[in-house]
Amino acid sequence: MQPLRVYSVVPRLPKQLEKLWDLAYNFLFVWNNDISSIFSSIDQVLWRDCQQNPVAFLNNMPQKQLEELATDVFFIQRLNEAVRIQSKYLSRASCSYKFEGAKQGEPVVAYFSLEYGIGLSLPIYSGGLGILAGDHLKSSSDLNIPLVGIGLCYQHGYFRQYMTQDGWQQERYPSHDFEEMPIKPAKNEKGEDLKFTLEMKGEPLHVKIWKVDAGRVTLYLLDTNISENTAQFKAITARLYGGNLEMRLWQEILLGVGGVKALAALGLEPSVIHMNEGHSAFAGLERIRVFMTDHGLSFEAAMEMVASSSIFTTHTPVPAGNDRFPADLMRPYFEPYAQTMGLAYKVFLALGREDPRDDSELFCMTVLALKLSRFNNGVSKLHGQVSRNMWQKVWPQYPVEDVPIGAITNGVHMPTWVANDISLLFDRYLGTNWREDPDCVRTWRQVDNIPDAELWRTHERLREQLVDFVRKRLRKQLLNIGARRKEIELAEEALDPRALTIGFARRFATYKRAGLLLKDKERLVKLISDTRYPVQFIFAGKAHPQDNEGKKLIQELIQFCRREECRMSMVFLEDYDMKMANYLVQGCDVWLNTPRRPLEACGTSGMKAMANGVLQFSTPDGWWDEAYLPDNSLGWAIGRREDYNDHEYQDFVESQTLYKVLENDIIPDFYDRGHGSLPRSWVTKVKAALCKLGPEFNANRMVEDYTEKAYLPAFNNYKTMAKDEFKGAKDLAAWRMELMTKWSSLKIRNIVSEVHTDIYVQEPIIISAEVFLNGLNTEDVQVEIYAGPVSQDREFIGRKTIIMTPEESLGAGWHLYQGEVLPSEAGRFGYTVRILPHHELLLDPHSLGLIHWAQ
Ligand SMILES: *Cc1c(COP(=O)(O)O)cnc(C)c1O
Repeated sequence: MQPLRVYSVVPRLPKQLEKLWDLAYNFLFVWNNDISSIFSSIDQVLWRDCQQNPVAFLNNMPQKQLEELATDVFFIQRLNEAVRIQSKYLSRASCSYKFEGAKQGEPVVAYFSLEYGIGLSLPIYSGGLGILAGDHLKSSSDLNIPLVGIGLCYQHGYFRQYMTQDGWQQERYPSHDFEEMPIKPAKNEKGEDLKFTLEMKGEPLHVKIWKVDAGRVTLYLLDTNISENTAQFKAITARLYGGNLEMRLWQEILLGVGGVKALAALGLEPSVIHMNEGHSAFAGLERIRVFMTDHGLSFEAAMEMVASSSIFTTHTPVPAGNDRFPADLMRPYFEPYAQTMGLAYKVFLALGREDPRDDSELFCMTVLALKLSRFNNGVSKLHGQVSRNMWQKVWPQYPVEDVPIGAITNGVHMPTWVANDISLLFDRYLGTNWREDPDCVRTWRQVDNIPDAELWRTHERLREQLVDFVRKRLRKQLLNIGARRKEIELAEEALDPRALTIGFARRFATYKRAGLLLKDKERLVKLISDTRYPVQFIFAGKAHPQDNEGKKLIQELIQFCRREECRMSMVFLEDYDMKMANYLVQGCDVWLNTPRRPLEACGTSGMKAMANGVLQFSTPDGWWDEAYLPDNSLGWAIGRREDYNDHEYQDFVESQTLYKVLENDIIPDFYDRGHGSLPRSWVTKVKAALCKLGPEFNANRMVEDYTEKAYLPAFNNYKTMAKDEFKGAKDLAAWRMELMTKWSSLKIRNIVSEVHTDIYVQEPIIISAEVFLNGLNTEDVQVEIYAGPVSQDREFIGRKTIIMTPEESLGAGWHLYQGEVLPSEAGRFGYTVRILPHHELLLDPHSLGLIHWAQ
């Protein structure tokens, strides 16, 4: 028997407490301790049991306790103060960036992501990608960037991890009650739940929109689990990264196509979109379709509009990690869709293929995103380079350094990840500026003012809290598998709150090499058994449900941790999430990371650790590749960026390095105690890392980079191109069409350099060339000298480009160009000449993929 109707009954808050709802329904409480402490101070245990979810917390407060609280003058005072802090934050108008001509209070940028990690009480993230998206929203809010987020509202989120007795990972998918979460349904003007439909394989898919407030930024989440839909369609928003390939396609259609429709249903008209990972690339397609139907643009003009106002961030340096769909799977969805855009299915498929003529290629979401965006980036300098190599085929004839994929290194949202005790220290010695303006170098220089002893005591307290947390978790884990009492009692004594504590918490993907530390088990046991200089390890992390290799690694690790000689100093914690991450990055002494270079795109957990005064010990990969110093003054590296062909050999060598650095450097440094048992040289490193890396690896710096390098130029592009009924877009498309038809007939001849037999460093070489433009104007192209040092086998090993100027028209379409180049160093030097397109609306001459080299 099922009830006819179901209501959620909410407590009636006494009038004096009503403002608690305002605090509860904005995620600002995650990064503002004045607000979150209002809840935790009422009932610490209930706050913890509710997973720091203020809505569930209030719903579960006994009415009687609420009424008592309403008469507590002191509490009411604090509540009013928190409300004042919240409204002050929300109403602040300052923004250092001018989006000239944007409507006040309307979003300019729409950020699309399949997952978001904003807080523990909104579990719609799996790991780094989602946490990064959450941090992006929070810093955008702090900086007052006019941005909205688009994502999906998963009924079960990502799986929760638990272990069988023999250490095999099991997955569970608890159901979320959205009514009890800090999110609300978006409403239409009649006050009804806002819904819209999109077509999925000829059937209507009904979508409900949820609204999440993250400070000043709104995140809209799409939900298909509503009564109007069939069971199949309801399941689209059941699980993050669950289901088969077709389910993934549905989710990505919902995110991309549905996301653009949702914005329209909400009456929002952002001019710029930011696709976080290839998952959301269909958003670009849907925007093209809308420009065509709503504004009568041709496909080409609509494509110029979209590409010029889109940003794409790729995150996956492992080819298999990029979503690819077979053409047959996509056909029922996209053949009719392509028709509405006047595209043959084959032409449509070419948008997702590295080689458009290769019919056997799968349709790749990353390729689609690269083609639909004129601003592409990787997430660290090294990853930018890896991505240029990986996607070079999309720009044939391009030298790899000119592939138009740049880099914006990720950062973390400091107020979310810095421990409260540390943040109080920062407030006192750096000023509160570090929260609002963490990329200010001057602020972090004042880390030196923090007395060593105070910093160290604070850190030690955080380590004690971590050990306490670990013991409680271990106890729970052991109870769950029905362990013996003796074992549980031992677990309550596990770890030493004063010992050197090394954390390793991340996804158990093979490239992260969690097993590196276990290569020489005897040597490891010797390390952790040293009673004079004790070392201990804490592990955590999930393996993808289908990744048996990852699960085997976890199992091996767990079985090792259970050994008699290990169990007091090596532990594996189940169910890694944001809360556990907080304890770990705040309480460890060393943050260990062992990815196989260069497969870690960036890595952000290490930055969280750094911000809490935890030192890195990592392969120079991702962010650490650009952060670490070879003198180890900021932390330690494993290896020196060597390349290996033999992975097994590499693992052997690097594991040896790992033990050696631990034995010879890290452990002695940690236990080198001076007066008051203070590890002076260690604290010096901690301070140096905070001072040098603090201003760089934070999400404010990241969002500012995106704003300056991408959002503002894209916004200005959009405005220019949309003006006068999209004249700019139409012109650009027509220009591009003409360019494409003429490009193959361009010629370069008579390249002459005036050189004597001897050429000296810094002595100019004047180069001239005759260029055939076949009726194109000299303004339509950019002719360049491409010059640099050359290897023995006549390959460029470096290069710079110098723009040549048109000197005179030679008639019949030929033009004389001239330029001069300065060899900056002695040695073998070479040059060639090339032609690129040029147009004032084209920000990057490389983005069209057209290039003509002198033969
Ligand atoms: C920060 C974080 C990650 C990402 O860490 P990596 O360094 O990229 O492995 C994953 N999961 C959680 C819960 C995090 O907080």
